[in-house]
Amino acid sequence: MLHELKTRLAEVDDLRSAASLLHWDQATYMPAQGASARGRQLATLSQLAHEKFTAPRLGELLDGLRSLESDPESDDAALIRVTRRQYEKAIRIPAEFEAKFSAHTAQIYEEWARARPANDFAAIRPLLEKSLDFSRELASFFPHEHIADPLIDFSDEGMKAQSVRALFSALRAQLVPLVEEVTARPPADDTFLRGHFAEEKQEEFANSIVRAIGYDFERGRMDTTHHPFMTKFSLGDVRITTRARENDPTELIFGALHEAGHALYEQGIARNLEATPLASGTSSGVHESQSRLWENLVGRSKPFWEHFYPDLQRTFPEQLGEVSLEAFVAGINRVSRSLVRTDADELTYNLHVMIRFDLELEMLEGNLLVADLPEAWRARYQSDLGLASETDANGVLQDVHWFSGTIGGAFQGYTIGNILSAQFFAAAEREIGDLESQIRRGQFEELREWLTRHIYRHGSKFTADEIVRRATGEELSTAPYLAYLRGKFAA
Ligand code: ZN
Repeated sequence: MLHELKTRLAEVDDLRSAASLLHWDQATYMPAQGASARGRQLATLSQLAHEKFTAPRLGELLDGLRSLESDPESDDAALIRVTRRQYEKAIRIPAEFEAKFSAHTAQIYEEWARARPANDFAAIRPLLEKSLDFSRELASFFPHEHIADPLIDFSDEGMKAQSVRALFSALRAQLVPLVEEVTARPPADDTFLRGHFAEEKQEEFANSIVRAIGYDFERGRMDTTHHPFMTKFSLGDVRITTRARENDPTELIFGALHEAGHALYEQGIARNLEATPLASGTSSGVHESQSRLWENLVGRSKPFWEHFYPDLQRTFPEQLGEVSLEAFVAGINRVSRSLVRTDADELTYNLHVMIRFDLELEMLEGNLLVADLPEAWRARYQSDLGLASETDANGVLQDVHWFSGTIGGAFQGYTIGNILSAQFFAAAEREIGDLESQIRRGQFEELREWLTRHIYRHGSKFTADEIVRRATGEELSTAPYLAYLRGKFAA
């Protein structure tokens, strides 16, 4: 029976991987005229995968294998447990809904790619209203206290609107005064990052650093897109996408480190979990903790640049030859209130996330109309960050999330990830000891090995809570993150 279960799950995985490949292609190389057929193809594949995964036979197999479920350490037991959780969720979603939503998603994504640069919220508004209807309908298939709970649970299992709100308000209470304190001082100079940096040279450099931290190009590749992401077709093919700006090399450098962090997690999953529901990261928060750990705790640290800055200076001698290491590190860690989440510094970043989280809860609750969203967005930026965008392109249209999936469930993971990145890093540092001097020498094996042992190799075998407890010996806590931020920025 276990063999039959695995065979069926591998078929589901094949269909989903094929859909992921089509989606990757849509976001990288597909010509514009391919969009409508691509939407249909994605809908067909997702419907087939859904039908296969919700087949009554799968339920019978899971019931028959129930006796194997109890051993907490065994891979097979975890496979049955995790598959059952996913199965019980999936059978609540009608295949017809799945197909309609997937076709809608492809359509709105394509429209967003046009509407964002055109600053055209009016054109995309009816589609976004449909997305909100779809999101509410999806949530309604599940029992819930808050309408957002099922959507949050899809990406961060075990979390609810209420628990995320509590976590965020605890963080916010400490973060806002810290932001006030730091932004009261004049920001670090970073004008040297605004020159002209040839894209090709940036790519070569970004390639070299993601290779150095351990991203395996034999099992992946790097391409360009509008909105960078990591995707996986198998444990032997984990791809990252990035975007470059010729007048700002940090976009590519930190974007590449971020996506490579996601990819290290997936490339680090034990190969024997291949083609099962265990072969992916356990939650969006834990996933984001890995992108943030490599992007920020490692990649924006002084020790990291003590090693790599001479290389970067050699790559761009005219632009950076005269800029000291200290000035460079201060520049890449410049704190200032800004309009765009993906450009935000580490300190203000979470305020951007909280705005989105609150607005999507309001929309789902029916307390905010899509039509009023651009104004509500501006008002929140004004009150939380002290500035508001004149354009929707740099306002409500800036993030892909609401235009490529549900409204709800996609943003909280970023801040949970930030919190966890510091908690994991602190635990690794306690165990490794001279982690900082290893990073200063460009050595990342021991850190990667620690992360692999405690997090990566398990895939989805353990829940986020279990991973945190096993890796750190503690419950999820904002203390290490706040200590890290204070140590870095308040000084
Ligand atoms: Zn990410």
